[in-house]
Amino acid sequence: MSDEKPAAAPSTPLRLEMVIGGEQVAAVSGETFDVVSPVTGLTIARVPKGGQEDVDRAVAAARAAFDGEWHTWSQTRRGQTLGRFATLIRDHLEELAVTESRNMGKPISSARWEIGAVANVMEYYAGAANKIMGETIPVSKPGFDFTLREPIGVVGLIVPWNFPLMLASWKMGPALAAGNTAILKPASYTPLTAIRVAELALEAGFPPGVLNVVTGPGSTAGAAIAAHPGIGKVAFTGETATGQAIMRAAAGNIKKISLELGGKSPNVVFADADLERFAAESPYSVFDNCGQDCCARSRIIVERSVHDRVVELFAAATLKVKVGDPDDPATEVGTMVSFRQRETVLDYIRIGREEGARVVAGGGIPAEPAYAQGAYIQPTVLDGVESRMRIAQDEVFGPVVVVIPFDTEEEAVRLANDIPYGLSGSIWTRDIGKAIRTARGIQSGVLSINCNSSVHTEAPFGGYKMSGTGRENGMHAFEQYTQIKNVYVDLS
Ligand code: NDP
Repeated sequence: MSDEKPAAAPSTPLRLEMVIGGEQVAAVSGETFDVVSPVTGLTIARVPKGGQEDVDRAVAAARAAFDGEWHTWSQTRRGQTLGRFATLIRDHLEELAVTESRNMGKPISSARWEIGAVANVMEYYAGAANKIMGETIPVSKPGFDFTLREPIGVVGLIVPWNFPLMLASWKMGPALAAGNTAILKPASYTPLTAIRVAELALEAGFPPGVLNVVTGPGSTAGAAIAAHPGIGKVAFTGETATGQAIMRAAAGNIKKISLELGGKSPNVVFADADLERFAAESPYSVFDNCGQDCCARSRIIVERSVHDRVVELFAAATLKVKVGDPDDPATEVGTMVSFRQRETVLDYIRIGREEGARVVAGGGIPAEPAYAQGAYIQPTVLDGVESRMRIAQDEVFGPVVVVIPFDTEEEAVRLANDIPYGLSGSIWTRDIGKAIRTARGIQSGVLSINCNSSVHTEAPFGGYKMSGTGRENGMHAFEQYTQIKNVYVDLS
């Protein structure tokens, strides 16, 4: 992977089109919207402002593709094409990474890693495509009973701006491997890489209409996908309230839905843990991607006897996190996605202070002139926090962590669960029994013990409680993109 600084950004905004039925098309209305870089505050691209009519057009193209040639392809051929798609993504890694970094404000090193991960996801599903199988079932009658796992049809994939292409890949990979056709709607902040990969999908050999991209506002284009009677399933990642709106809209034609929503994940630290290692590694579990991560470990729940030591070590490690120009390969934390999102986070820090929290690191905008242009913010640690406070309950979606002490193992589990979410979390202890008891007690879809993450392409990812429904990644994802047909054969 390159550690070079990327080439300078072009000065004129790019003009991009949607990809529908294999064609590059403008919105039916002819309207466009600006895509602004949070690094410079400048418009870097103009893309179509799609709406209901564009979604109708994409559904028609996706349906025609589903009923056409695509339907006749073997699972192996679908897998081979996904393999070529993965190779093309890898061949264009630098171009896609630079686009993602400039569009979203994430460091170029993170963007390079993410695009590599997107290619890995496609490779995984390339290999998985011909391993989607039915069963034979010994029923109580003398005949023969078997199941078929069939694609759903046209699926809608609605993704957010925090990991734009990576979260899209978690949906595109299994959706296409299972034989569906797809309409991808990227977030309005970050539509650029989605458009580019739809072009690469055509180059890889997917028939026109198999992967379509509609850009446009969530309130119109997104809502049209969620409600469309021609779409059989919607996969969504984003805010919990949007997920609820999608659930309601999906009721119209009983769409299948999978939702990956918010989180307020705990980082439970017992006194017997390797505290130095925790403090050195854990800042990245919450400040990475400038805290804009549904899995961010934004609550440190620490045993009271080591509270002061952990706060001291963690605050010192936080101050060492390198915030800076996303183009610089040494940068660890870039800008937020937008100046508006930064305002939301600064508001939360103010609310936390008013509730009685004490800032022990960060707390505002970096003062140096180098940070003046972009949506930069300091990684922030708030101590003196109680679980009932808003700063301990709401998903801030920025680089802010709160510290809450506990006295007993039961209290640690109770505090970890004292939120409406249940997406992710970590447990730090050298006692294996304590680690497993705590892991069993925490209501969460994803947990890691003595490390920052348990997200893997091959393993299931998803939430408990208001963090969502359904699982992405691994073979579990096929449950979301296939339906089961049971066939009984009378042998008499
Ligand atoms: P949203 O949930 O609003 O957006 C996610 C995606 O859904 C975008 O593509 C958006 O389009 C689309 N969308 C918005 N409204 C609708 C709708 N009614 N029907 C269908 N699709 C819709 O999240 P935001 O991007 O606005 O972020 C807001 C907050 O959500 C963040 O501050 C954060 O707290 C949380 N969030 C959580 C994420 C997670 O992974 N858990 C990821 C991103 C955000 P458009 O971009 O055009 O609005």
